[in-house]
Amino acid sequence: MNIHEYQAKEVLREFGVPVPRGEAAFTVDEAVKGAEKLGGPVWVVKAQIHAGGRGKAGGVKVVKSIDDVKKESARILGSTLVTHQTGPAGKKVNRLYIEEGSAIDKEFYLSLLVDRESSRVAIVASTEGGVNIEEVAHDTPEKITTITVDPVANICPHHVRRLAKALGLNAEAQKQLSPLLTNLYKAFVDTDMSMLEINPLVLTKDNKLICLDAKVDFDNNALFLHPQIAALRDETEEDAKEIEASKYDLNYIALEGSIGCMVNGAGLAMASMDIIKLYGSAPANFLDVGGSATKEKVAAAFKIITSDPNVKGILVNIFGGIMKCDVIAEGVVAAVKEVGLKVPLVVRLEGTNVDLGKKIIKESGLNVTTGDDLDDAAQKIVKAVKEAA
Ligand code: GDP
Ligand code: MN
Repeated sequence: MNIHEYQAKEVLREFGVPVPRGEAAFTVDEAVKGAEKLGGPVWVVKAQIHAGGRGKAGGVKVVKSIDDVKKESARILGSTLVTHQTGPAGKKVNRLYIEEGSAIDKEFYLSLLVDRESSRVAIVASTEGGVNIEEVAHDTPEKITTITVDPVANICPHHVRRLAKALGLNAEAQKQLSPLLTNLYKAFVDTDMSMLEINPLVLTKDNKLICLDAKVDFDNNALFLHPQIAALRDETEEDAKEIEASKYDLNYIALEGSIGCMVNGAGLAMASMDIIKLYGSAPANFLDVGGSATKEKVAAAFKIITSDPNVKGILVNIFGGIMKCDVIAEGVVAAVKEVGLKVPLVVRLEGTNVDLGKKIIKESGLNVTTGDDLDDAAQKIVKAVKEAA
């Protein structure tokens, strides 16, 4: 789960990480009041969307008067920002963050993430802050330093020395880096983040290290441990279909292709997506209904798939183990009765109660093609979608 920059900074502030003072605002009035409270003389008006690259797209403005706070807030609020992370459709700005301005001397890149290779939290740092880190990694990888943290030892003096050297920090800034890293690491671990990106971390002209931007991703599987973090969720920033799916505890990710997939088990879902690609099409989603789905859950899943205008055909691929084929069949039939079916549907059922499942679908009178196995079913749905196009 992602949160907004201002929320991320609040979380970091609680852990003692230095961030600028700021006020969130939902209206231009609130933005002006927030700016007056902060006092100036320099403010930054920042669009709050779940995407980076706002600066280049005009969503971050440094201003020097309350009048300009008002002007920029009115311009940004309600506008649609298109950045390299939003996709071409962009994202509408519903919230602002008004921050006290910082006099920047140097901008650095700093991030923490879960490194699967070392099974540790990795810290990535670079002198090339503020810009696209992917470009730095590609063009000048020597400018990126990565360390991993032993979970028993936590942040140690040698980590601080190594990163301070990589960033070319003076002694005073290095002194500040030590608690900064310790607190960032504690925030990361204690709240179950999966990514924490500070871009830029800045050294101000009066020699203070501050986190000027903060992008956080939390591990969804641990959210139940942190109700105060879960409450920060902004559903307007998320895919409506993914929100609906999460209500039913379905593992659903919207994708770009045209074939909707309903599958049980992540492995089988992956295999189904691969084979759709192999036969020349692309999946419209990843969907694992899980091993213990009810008829209602299956029906909800099916409705989410059919509500996607990109879906030109549906593949139901179920291997009934704990999950029973008749439950799947009943769910699909119930959903189609409710919302109709305008695209080709191929169903491949195998395993527990397969005969009963096939019987339910057959007797429902639905226009369904059955697949003998995964390979056959994938070819049939790809062909049906091509013919319908
Ligand atoms: P992003 O473009 O979405 O990553 O938004 P950031 O929060 O990183 O802001 C983009 C850029 O705006 C930063 O890299 C800074 O160069 C600049 N910026 C942000 N806040 C301040 C500030 O307080 N003072 C100054 N001078 N520049 C700022
Ligand atoms: Mn940034």
